[in-house]
Amino acid sequence: MSTPEYLFERRNKAGSRLIDKITSQRKIILLLDYDGTLVPIKKKPSLALLSASMHKLLKTLAAHSNFIVIVVTGRSFSDIKKLIGIKNIIYASNHGFQISGNRIKWIHPGVERNLSNIKKISFSLNDALKSFPATFVEDKKLTLSVHFRNEKNNFIPVVKKIVAKSIQPFQENIIKTTGKKVIEIRPNINWNKGKAVLKILTMLQHRKNKNSVICLGDDKTDEDAFRALKNKAITIHVGSKRNTQAHFYLYNSKQVKTFLEMILLQNKIKFPMLSG
Ligand SMILES: [Mg+2]
Repeated sequence: MSTPEYLFERRNKAGSRLIDKITSQRKIILLLDYDGTLVPIKKKPSLALLSASMHKLLKTLAAHSNFIVIVVTGRSFSDIKKLIGIKNIIYASNHGFQISGNRIKWIHPGVERNLSNIKKISFSLNDALKSFPATFVEDKKLTLSVHFRNEKNNFIPVVKKIVAKSIQPFQENIIKTTGKKVIEIRPNINWNKGKAVLKILTMLQHRKNKNSVICLGDDKTDEDAFRALKNKAITIHVGSKRNTQAHFYLYNSKQVKTFLEMILLQNKIKFPMLSG
């Protein structure tokens, strides 16, 4: 794994070489993660709202013909659509199992076969976890998330056991992964953000159109995208971790905003709320 470079450092050293390279392309495809990238991580997922300036920035980018804006997220389609609410954005939701927006409508065929299993697990989990009100089962239709970040520490092993037991009858069709204070349950299909972003680029006829691609993300699932895009895109990890497959890094979503503003500036697109 090579060490990522600090994006703004490189820019200072080598002028705006990177930004120049990007803007020499006809179109820029922006692949953006949501939580931890466009918004800081919040205690409750429902509190992670776009700032007014980030919203305006995304809206400006999405409305301009030089850009294609795609949000790639673990959230459900209805959730992310509601949170962002901007026309012309493509959403790769549910870890890329569903790709929708801007005349694109696609669901992974293997997911549809598993819809009834997910429904049954959701039902049995809600029932089995009734006495743990601090644990929350998020039914995203195609996948499920069990959030236990507010659960008492000594209850967490019990919650994990209940989840394991509830999915047992579906073991062959379902995979369970444990993230930061969350258990994800999804169809057992060889699919991830990396495969999803490659699928999107094919849908957009990326190669034929010679677009420039930039991908930003902060979490483990984004590493799949960074790996898949190694020679196809400029990849940027957001956060303090340095063991990443990305080419560059930025510290936080505030710097992501600055970077997106810089791209607009380079394209000579007026944006009324530029920050210093
Ligand atoms: Mg994230």
